Amino acid sequence: MTVSAALNPMPGTLYVVATPIGNLDDITARALRVLRDVALIAAEDTRHSARLLQHFGIATPLAACHEHNERDHGGRFLARLQAGEDVALISDAGTPLISDPGFHLVRQARAAGIRVVPVPGPCALIAALSAAGLPSDRFVFEGFLPAKAAGRLARLEQLKEEPRTLIFYEAPHRLLECLGDLERTMGVDRLAVLARELTKTFETFRSLPLGELRAWVAEDSNQQRGECVLLVAGWQPPPEEAVSAAALRVLDLLLKEVPLKRAAALAAEITGVRKNLLYQAALERQG
Ligand code: SAM
Repeated sequence: MTVSAALNPMPGTLYVVATPIGNLDDITARALRVLRDVALIAAEDTRHSARLLQHFGIATPLAACHEHNERDHGGRFLARLQAGEDVALISDAGTPLISDPGFHLVRQARAAGIRVVPVPGPCALIAALSAAGLPSDRFVFEGFLPAKAAGRLARLEQLKEEPRTLIFYEAPHRLLECLGDLERTMGVDRLAVLARELTKTFETFRSLPLGELRAWVAEDSNQQRGECVLLVAGWQPPPEEAVSAAALRVLDLLLKEVPLKRAAALAAEITGVRKNLLYQAALERQG
Protein backbone atom coordinates (compact mmCIF):
# COMPACT_ATOMS: atom_id res chain seq x y z
CA MET A 1 0.00 0.00 0.00
CA THR A 2 1.38 3.43 -0.93
CA VAL A 3 1.79 6.15 1.70
CA SER A 4 -1.00 8.22 0.15
CA ALA A 5 -3.33 5.21 0.03
CA ALA A 6 -2.55 4.48 3.68
CA LEU A 7 -3.31 8.08 4.62
CA ASN A 8 -6.30 8.23 2.35
CA PRO A 9 -7.87 4.78 2.14
CA MET A 10 -10.88 5.97 0.09
CA PRO A 11 -10.02 6.68 -3.56
CA GLY A 12 -11.67 9.67 -5.19
CA THR A 13 -14.48 9.61 -7.74
CA LEU A 14 -14.19 10.27 -11.46
CA TYR A 15 -17.22 12.33 -12.55
CA VAL A 16 -18.06 12.27 -16.28
CA VAL A 17 -19.76 15.64 -16.72
CA ALA A 18 -21.84 16.77 -19.71
CA THR A 19 -21.52 20.45 -20.69
CA PRO A 20 -23.63 22.60 -23.10
CA ILE A 21 -23.62 22.05 -26.89
CA GLY A 22 -24.32 25.71 -27.58
CA ASN A 23 -26.69 27.27 -25.07
CA LEU A 24 -24.87 27.82 -21.78
CA ASP A 25 -28.17 27.75 -19.88
CA ASP A 26 -28.25 24.00 -20.54
CA ILE A 27 -25.59 23.25 -17.94
CA THR A 28 -27.15 21.43 -14.99
CA ALA A 29 -27.02 22.58 -11.37
CA ARG A 30 -25.32 19.29 -10.50
CA ALA A 31 -22.66 19.75 -13.20
CA LEU A 32 -21.82 23.21 -11.78
CA ARG A 33 -21.61 21.85 -8.23
CA VAL A 34 -19.35 18.96 -9.27
CA LEU A 35 -17.08 21.20 -11.39
CA ARG A 36 -16.72 23.55 -8.41
CA ASP A 37 -16.07 20.81 -5.86
CA VAL A 38 -13.57 18.50 -7.59
CA ALA A 39 -9.81 18.90 -7.18
CA LEU A 40 -9.08 18.78 -10.91
CA ILE A 41 -10.94 18.96 -14.23
CA ALA A 42 -9.62 16.79 -17.08
CA ALA A 43 -10.60 18.67 -20.26
CA GLU A 44 -10.31 17.96 -23.99
CA ASP A 45 -9.12 21.52 -24.70
CA THR A 46 -8.14 23.45 -21.58
CA ARG A 47 -8.33 26.88 -23.28
CA HIS A 48 -11.85 26.18 -24.56
CA SER A 49 -13.03 24.89 -21.18
CA ALA A 50 -11.36 27.76 -19.31
CA ARG A 51 -13.88 30.10 -20.99
CA LEU A 52 -16.80 27.94 -19.87
CA LEU A 53 -15.51 27.81 -16.28
CA GLN A 54 -14.84 31.53 -16.27
CA HIS A 55 -18.42 32.19 -17.40
CA PHE A 56 -19.69 30.31 -14.35
CA GLY A 57 -17.06 31.73 -11.97
CA ILE A 58 -15.41 28.34 -11.37
CA ALA A 59 -11.70 28.37 -10.48
CA THR A 60 -10.98 24.60 -10.38
CA PRO A 61 -7.61 23.76 -12.07
CA LEU A 62 -7.75 22.22 -15.57
CA ALA A 63 -5.48 19.59 -17.13
CA ALA A 64 -5.49 18.34 -20.72
CA CYS A 65 -7.08 14.99 -21.49
CA HIS A 66 -7.42 14.74 -25.24
CA GLU A 67 -7.31 11.84 -27.68
CA HIS A 68 -3.54 12.14 -28.20
CA ASN A 69 -2.52 11.98 -24.54
CA GLU A 70 -5.44 10.19 -22.93
CA ARG A 71 -4.04 6.66 -23.18
CA ASP A 72 -0.55 7.58 -21.95
CA HIS A 73 -1.37 10.31 -19.45
CA GLY A 74 -4.42 8.62 -17.93
CA GLY A 75 -2.04 7.49 -15.16
CA ARG A 76 -1.64 11.10 -14.03
CA PHE A 77 -5.37 11.38 -13.35
CA LEU A 78 -5.51 7.89 -11.85
CA ALA A 79 -2.75 8.78 -9.37
CA ARG A 80 -4.77 11.80 -8.19
CA LEU A 81 -7.91 9.66 -7.93
CA GLN A 82 -6.09 6.94 -6.06
CA ALA A 83 -4.74 9.56 -3.66
CA GLY A 84 -8.35 10.33 -2.73
CA GLU A 85 -9.01 13.39 -4.94
CA ASP A 86 -12.15 13.75 -7.06
CA VAL A 87 -11.65 14.48 -10.75
CA ALA A 88 -14.22 15.66 -13.35
CA LEU A 89 -13.89 14.75 -17.01
CA ILE A 90 -15.38 17.16 -19.57
CA SER A 91 -15.12 17.56 -23.34
CA ASP A 92 -15.45 20.67 -25.51
CA ALA A 93 -19.21 20.22 -25.78
CA GLY A 94 -21.87 17.74 -24.74
CA THR A 95 -21.26 14.37 -23.17
CA PRO A 96 -17.65 13.12 -22.93
CA LEU A 97 -16.93 9.80 -24.74
CA ILE A 98 -19.73 10.46 -27.27
CA SER A 99 -17.51 11.03 -30.34
CA ASP A 100 -15.17 12.67 -27.83
CA PRO A 101 -12.20 11.57 -25.70
CA GLY A 102 -12.57 9.87 -22.33
CA PHE A 103 -13.07 6.18 -23.05
CA HIS A 104 -9.52 5.13 -22.12
CA LEU A 105 -9.56 7.13 -18.89
CA VAL A 106 -12.95 5.72 -17.85
CA ARG A 107 -11.81 2.20 -18.67
CA GLN A 108 -8.54 2.62 -16.78
CA ALA A 109 -10.36 4.11 -13.78
CA ARG A 110 -12.88 1.26 -13.66
CA ALA A 111 -10.08 -1.31 -13.99
CA ALA A 112 -8.36 0.35 -11.03
CA GLY A 113 -11.52 0.02 -8.94
CA ILE A 114 -12.28 3.75 -8.98
CA ARG A 115 -15.90 4.86 -8.81
CA VAL A 116 -17.02 6.47 -12.08
CA VAL A 117 -20.15 8.62 -11.86
CA PRO A 118 -21.99 10.13 -14.85
CA VAL A 119 -23.39 13.64 -14.52
CA PRO A 120 -25.77 13.60 -17.49
CA GLY A 121 -26.76 16.57 -19.60
CA PRO A 122 -26.61 17.82 -23.20
CA CYS A 123 -25.81 15.44 -26.05
CA ALA A 124 -26.34 16.45 -29.68
CA LEU A 125 -27.60 13.06 -30.89
CA ILE A 126 -30.24 12.82 -28.15
CA ALA A 127 -31.32 16.45 -28.60
CA ALA A 128 -31.67 15.85 -32.36
CA LEU A 129 -33.54 12.57 -31.97
CA SER A 130 -35.90 14.01 -29.35
CA ALA A 131 -37.22 16.63 -31.78
CA ALA A 132 -36.71 15.10 -35.26
CA GLY A 133 -40.00 13.26 -35.52
CA LEU A 134 -38.40 9.96 -36.59
CA PRO A 135 -39.02 6.70 -34.68
CA SER A 136 -37.04 6.95 -31.45
CA ASP A 137 -37.88 3.64 -29.77
CA ARG A 138 -34.85 2.03 -31.40
CA PHE A 139 -31.96 3.83 -33.06
CA VAL A 140 -28.34 3.38 -34.11
CA PHE A 141 -25.72 6.04 -33.45
CA GLU A 142 -22.97 5.81 -36.07
CA GLY A 143 -20.92 8.84 -34.97
CA PHE A 144 -18.82 10.26 -37.82
CA LEU A 145 -18.74 8.35 -41.11
CA PRO A 146 -15.31 7.78 -42.69
CA ALA A 147 -13.98 11.02 -44.20
CA LYS A 148 -12.98 9.39 -47.53
CA ALA A 149 -15.68 8.57 -50.07
CA ALA A 150 -14.73 4.90 -50.53
CA GLY A 151 -14.83 4.14 -46.81
CA ARG A 152 -18.03 6.13 -46.37
CA LEU A 153 -19.82 4.32 -49.19
CA ALA A 154 -18.68 0.93 -47.87
CA ARG A 155 -20.06 1.75 -44.41
CA LEU A 156 -23.35 3.03 -45.84
CA GLU A 157 -23.71 -0.14 -47.93
CA GLN A 158 -23.57 -2.11 -44.67
CA LEU A 159 -26.22 0.14 -43.14
CA LYS A 160 -28.68 0.49 -45.99
CA GLU A 161 -31.02 -2.24 -44.73
CA GLU A 162 -30.79 -1.25 -41.06
CA PRO A 163 -34.41 -0.95 -39.85
CA ARG A 164 -33.67 1.34 -36.88
CA THR A 165 -33.37 5.13 -37.15
CA LEU A 166 -29.77 6.02 -38.10
CA ILE A 167 -27.96 8.96 -36.51
CA PHE A 168 -24.73 10.48 -37.85
CA TYR A 169 -22.50 13.35 -36.79
CA GLU A 170 -21.04 15.25 -39.72
CA ALA A 171 -18.63 18.12 -40.23
CA PRO A 172 -20.24 21.02 -42.13
CA HIS A 173 -17.70 20.90 -45.01
CA ARG A 174 -18.55 17.24 -45.67
CA LEU A 175 -22.32 17.52 -45.29
CA LEU A 176 -23.13 17.73 -49.02
CA GLU A 177 -20.83 14.85 -49.96
CA CYS A 178 -22.30 12.78 -47.16
CA LEU A 179 -25.88 13.54 -48.26
CA GLY A 180 -24.92 12.56 -51.83
CA ASP A 181 -23.61 9.20 -50.63
CA LEU A 182 -26.65 8.63 -48.42
CA GLU A 183 -28.89 9.32 -51.41
CA ARG A 184 -26.87 6.94 -53.57
CA THR A 185 -26.99 4.05 -51.09
CA MET A 186 -30.35 4.49 -49.36
CA GLY A 187 -32.35 5.97 -52.24
CA VAL A 188 -33.77 9.43 -53.01
CA ASP A 189 -37.06 8.69 -51.24
CA ARG A 190 -35.73 7.68 -47.82
CA LEU A 191 -36.83 10.26 -45.22
CA ALA A 192 -34.03 12.13 -43.45
CA VAL A 193 -33.73 15.00 -40.99
CA LEU A 194 -30.96 17.59 -40.81
CA ALA A 195 -30.67 19.02 -37.28
CA ARG A 196 -28.34 22.05 -37.30
CA GLU A 197 -27.01 24.42 -34.67
CA LEU A 198 -28.97 22.76 -31.88
CA THR A 199 -29.72 25.00 -28.88
CA LYS A 200 -28.18 27.98 -30.73
CA THR A 201 -29.70 31.08 -32.38
CA PHE A 202 -30.00 29.52 -35.84
CA GLU A 203 -31.25 26.12 -34.76
CA THR A 204 -32.83 24.40 -37.79
CA PHE A 205 -34.67 21.13 -38.32
CA ARG A 206 -35.43 20.12 -41.92
CA SER A 207 -37.20 16.86 -42.68
CA LEU A 208 -37.27 15.76 -46.35
CA PRO A 209 -36.63 12.71 -48.54
CA LEU A 210 -32.85 12.39 -49.07
CA GLY A 211 -32.93 13.60 -52.70
CA GLU A 212 -34.80 16.80 -51.75
CA LEU A 213 -32.73 17.37 -48.61
CA ARG A 214 -29.48 17.18 -50.59
CA ALA A 215 -30.84 19.63 -53.19
CA TRP A 216 -32.03 22.01 -50.43
CA VAL A 217 -28.62 22.00 -48.72
CA ALA A 218 -26.85 22.43 -52.10
CA GLU A 219 -28.95 25.53 -52.89
CA ASP A 220 -28.47 27.26 -49.54
CA SER A 221 -24.84 27.63 -48.45
CA ASN A 222 -26.00 28.68 -44.95
CA GLN A 223 -27.03 25.09 -44.40
CA GLN A 224 -23.44 24.00 -45.01
CA ARG A 225 -22.21 25.92 -41.96
CA GLY A 226 -22.29 25.26 -38.24
CA GLU A 227 -22.70 21.95 -36.47
CA CYS A 228 -25.11 19.29 -37.60
CA VAL A 229 -26.62 15.92 -36.88
CA LEU A 230 -28.09 13.83 -39.69
CA LEU A 231 -30.88 11.37 -38.99
CA VAL A 232 -32.11 8.87 -41.54
CA ALA A 233 -35.28 6.80 -41.25
CA GLY A 234 -34.65 3.08 -40.92
CA TRP A 235 -35.09 0.76 -43.89
CA GLN A 236 -38.55 -0.67 -44.41
CA PRO A 237 -39.01 -3.91 -46.33
CA PRO A 238 -41.03 -3.39 -49.52
CA PRO A 239 -44.68 -4.39 -49.07
CA GLU A 240 -45.37 -8.03 -49.93
CA GLU A 241 -46.42 -8.44 -53.56
CA ALA A 242 -49.98 -9.64 -53.86
CA VAL A 243 -50.45 -12.83 -55.87
CA SER A 244 -53.00 -12.11 -58.60
CA ALA A 245 -56.24 -14.07 -58.89
CA ALA A 246 -55.07 -15.43 -62.26
CA ALA A 247 -51.85 -16.80 -60.74
CA LEU A 248 -53.80 -18.40 -57.90
CA ARG A 249 -56.13 -20.06 -60.44
CA VAL A 250 -53.09 -21.60 -62.20
CA LEU A 251 -51.71 -22.70 -58.83
CA ASP A 252 -55.03 -24.31 -57.82
CA LEU A 253 -55.18 -26.29 -61.08
CA LEU A 254 -51.62 -27.53 -60.65
CA LEU A 255 -52.15 -28.43 -56.98
CA LYS A 256 -54.79 -30.94 -58.12
CA GLU A 257 -52.26 -32.68 -60.39
CA VAL A 258 -48.76 -32.48 -58.84
CA PRO A 259 -47.14 -32.21 -55.35
CA LEU A 260 -47.14 -28.78 -53.68
CA LYS A 261 -43.50 -27.85 -54.30
CA ARG A 262 -43.71 -28.81 -57.99
CA ALA A 263 -47.02 -26.95 -58.36
CA ALA A 264 -45.47 -23.75 -56.95
CA ALA A 265 -42.44 -24.10 -59.26
CA LEU A 266 -44.57 -24.69 -62.38
CA ALA A 267 -46.99 -21.88 -61.47
CA ALA A 268 -44.00 -19.54 -61.06
CA GLU A 269 -42.75 -20.44 -64.53
CA ILE A 270 -46.15 -19.96 -66.10
CA THR A 271 -47.16 -16.72 -64.34
CA GLY A 272 -43.82 -15.03 -63.64
CA VAL A 273 -44.76 -14.62 -59.93
CA ARG A 274 -41.94 -15.40 -57.43
CA LYS A 275 -41.78 -19.10 -56.50
CA ASN A 276 -41.57 -18.35 -52.76
CA LEU A 277 -44.78 -16.36 -52.86
CA LEU A 278 -46.61 -19.13 -54.70
CA TYR A 279 -45.18 -21.73 -52.34
CA GLN A 280 -46.54 -19.74 -49.37
CA ALA A 281 -49.90 -19.34 -51.11
CA ALA A 282 -49.99 -23.10 -51.81
CA LEU A 283 -49.28 -23.90 -48.16
CA GLU A 284 -52.09 -21.58 -47.04
CA ARG A 285 -54.51 -23.10 -49.56
CA GLN A 286 -53.76 -26.59 -48.33
CA GLY A 287 -54.24 -25.50 -44.72
N1 SAM B 1 -19.80 14.95 -27.25
C1 SAM B 1 -20.68 15.67 -28.13
C2 SAM B 1 -22.13 15.26 -27.84
O1 SAM B 1 -22.41 14.84 -26.72
O2 SAM B 1 -22.99 15.42 -28.70
C3 SAM B 1 -20.31 15.46 -29.58
C4 SAM B 1 -18.91 15.86 -29.92
S1 SAM B 1 -18.47 15.62 -31.60
C5 SAM B 1 -16.75 15.95 -31.55
C6 SAM B 1 -19.04 17.06 -32.38
C7 SAM B 1 -20.19 16.78 -33.33
O3 SAM B 1 -21.41 16.72 -32.59
C8 SAM B 1 -20.43 17.88 -34.34
O4 SAM B 1 -19.61 17.70 -35.49
C9 SAM B 1 -21.89 17.70 -34.68
O5 SAM B 1 -22.07 16.63 -35.58
C10 SAM B 1 -22.45 17.31 -33.31
N2 SAM B 1 -22.88 18.52 -32.57
C11 SAM B 1 -22.31 19.03 -31.47
N3 SAM B 1 -22.99 20.13 -31.08
C12 SAM B 1 -23.99 20.32 -31.95
C13 SAM B 1 -25.04 21.27 -32.10
N4 SAM B 1 -25.15 22.30 -31.27
N5 SAM B 1 -25.91 21.13 -33.13
C14 SAM B 1 -25.80 20.11 -33.99
N6 SAM B 1 -24.82 19.18 -33.91
C15 SAM B 1 -23.94 19.28 -32.91
